[in-house]
Order: sequence, then C-alpha cells, then structure tokens
Amino acid sequence: MTARILNGIAIRDQIYAELEREIAALGAAGIRPGLAAVLVGENAASQIYVRSKIAACEQLGLGSWLHRPPADVTTDELLALIAELNASDEVDGILVQLPLPAQVDTKRVLEAVDPAKDVDGFHPVNLGRLVSGRAGLVACTPAGCMEILRRSGITIEGASAAIVGRSDIVGKPMALLLMHANATVTICHSKTRDLPGVVRRADIVVAAIGRAAMVEPSWVRPGATVIDVGINRITDAAEAGRIFANFPAKLAQFREKGSVLVGDVHPDVAEIAGAMTPVPGGVGPLTIAMLMSNTVKAARLRRGRSVPVNAPGVAAAKP
Ligand code: NAP
Repeated sequence: MTARILNGIAIRDQIYAELEREIAALGAAGIRPGLAAVLVGENAASQIYVRSKIAACEQLGLGSWLHRPPADVTTDELLALIAELNASDEVDGILVQLPLPAQVDTKRVLEAVDPAKDVDGFHPVNLGRLVSGRAGLVACTPAGCMEILRRSGITIEGASAAIVGRSDIVGKPMALLLMHANATVTICHSKTRDLPGVVRRADIVVAAIGRAAMVEPSWVRPGATVIDVGINRITDAAEAGRIFANFPAKLAQFREKGSVLVGDVHPDVAEIAGAMTPVPGGVGPLTIAMLMSNTVKAARLRRGRSVPVNAPGVAAAKP
C-alpha cells in the first residue's frame, strides 16, 4: 500500500481563502483583527517562526506588531508588556513565542495573557474550556491536525486513536479534541509499555514525540491514518542514509544542504499507512493557519460577534 499524502499546504490555502472572506466582512464593519507577537532574545528558530507568523498576518491583511524584549528581560518586565497588550483595544491576539529564557517564569507570563486574547490556547481558562467541550481558543497545532483529518474525510467517530506524546501544547489537547470528536483515545508517553503494540491497534496515529523517525512501519496497522507532528533536522550523513534509504531525492537534498527534515514517523510508513502527513508540508502550515484563524475568532468574540458555525477550529471543541 502507498499512503495518500495529506497535503497541509493545500488545506492551509483552503483555510486562508475562508479567512480572507471573513476578514473582508469584518473590515466592512470597521474591524481589523490584529496579532501582537512577543519575541524575547535572539533564538534563531524562534525568529524564523515569528517571522513566518507576521508574514501570514500581512498576507491576510491582519494587523501585526512585533515586540522584541532583550534576552535578559525579567518576569516583571514581561508581565508589564503583557498588561499593556491586554489593555490595547487594537490587539486581538497575543503570542508569546516559547521558549522564554531560564530567568523568566514562563507559566506566570502565559497565565497573565487575557484568555480572550490567548490565540495560542495555552491559558488554563482555555484549556479548561477544551476539557469541558466548550468553544474557546484551542492550541493551534492540535486544532490544525483536526482540520487535516476532517478536511481529508478521515472517519474519526468510533475510530481508535493513539497519540504518542502528552505535552501541554500538542499531545494533551489533541487527545481531548479527538475524544470530543468521538474517537476512543489512548495517550502514550515515555513510560508506555509495548508502545509499538499500542500504536498498532490504532486507526489514527498522532506522533508528537520529538524523536526522528521513531514510529516504524512495523508499528502501524495497514491502512491507518498517520499524523506526523514532529519536526527534526538531521545533520548526520549516516542517520540520513538510514532513514531515507528509499528516498533518493531526500538524500540528494541532504548532500546539497548538509541537513534534511524528518518527522517523528519513519518515511517508510508511507508503504503501510492508508493516509499520512508529509514533513515538511503537513502539520506545520496548519499551525500557522490556526493561529490566524484564532486571531480572527478572538476579534469576533471580543466584539460580541458570533463565529460562523463552519469556521476552522469551531466544531473542534464541541462534543
Ligand atoms: P515535548 O514537550 O518534548 O513532548 C514530547 C512527548 O513525547 C512527551 O510526552 C514524552 O513523554 C514523549 N516521548 C519522548 N520520548 C518518548 C519515547 N521514547 N517513547 C514514548 N514517548 C516519548 O514535545 P512537543 O512540544 O509536544 O513536540 C513534539 C514534536 O512536535 C517535536 O518534534 C516538535 O518540534 C514538534 N512540533 C511541531 C509543531 C508543528 O507546527 N508542526 C508544533 C509543535 C511541536 P514523557 O511525557 O513521558 O516525557
């Protein structure tokens, strides 16, 4: 079997087209949703992520502001900035790019964000809403995985789902979203006994581990749907050779650039799965799309306007 590739870029473009219509309708009512990003210090990966989020705002015509506190910023200074952004009526969404430096109390900073502007969906109030199945702002990466599943026509209701990884930002909210969509969910982690056996029983596998190509073809039930959240950069030639032995184009890319990206799922799983997201071009584009969607949703909710029932991510939080 060769898996159907679930193209995240095409799904993102669909969502952007829907958002453009919503943004135009809000614009006609004098509302321009806006996102404030807080990027602390000079972390290279964080700079790339924030740049692409701001670029997406510009592409869609959303307002955006970038705040760049220095790497030695204190918790109190960040709390003061968050208070300012909470109070600004122009700002609908606040994004604090993680990780923050070690001297900063990350939890205090994230909990200081007004839940109505918490477009990352990390605030305990929004997590609580998600637990109880009420509409709110849902973490972008798991919300994006749900969009991939739904828009690709994958049956969720009644399916058995295995999620490998239980982080607050991916694994846990993913489990809740799938459960609310009536899947039977197993959450796996580093202490799970017989992980391959648990994964093999699943119709839907979500890998959010942070370990290159860990989910092997022998772990996957033939025909299962595999959502690969992981993004790992391989720089070792022997490792690239092992992982991409059957993918000459990837090996050529490695030789040219000295590195290549791989997910948490081994690329050979494509021979076993029924459907699978690629890396790159799978979950990644949806994470940014859902951030844009959450910013528009926050703008509507803050102004007492209802969110269209078919808006991206809306059905995701309903039981
Ligand atoms: P994380 O906070 O490091 O969590 C990793 C999870 O994987 C933990 O729950 C951990 O278990 C589990 N795990 C680690 N080793 C394991 C093993 N050998 N067997 C079973 N479980 C194991 O990571 P995260 O933030 O959720 O991110 C996961 C991956 O997704 C990373 O590659 C990250 O770069 C990627 N990511 C991508 C996007 C995107 O937009 N595409 C967004 C976010 C994250 P324990 O809890 O027991 O330690």
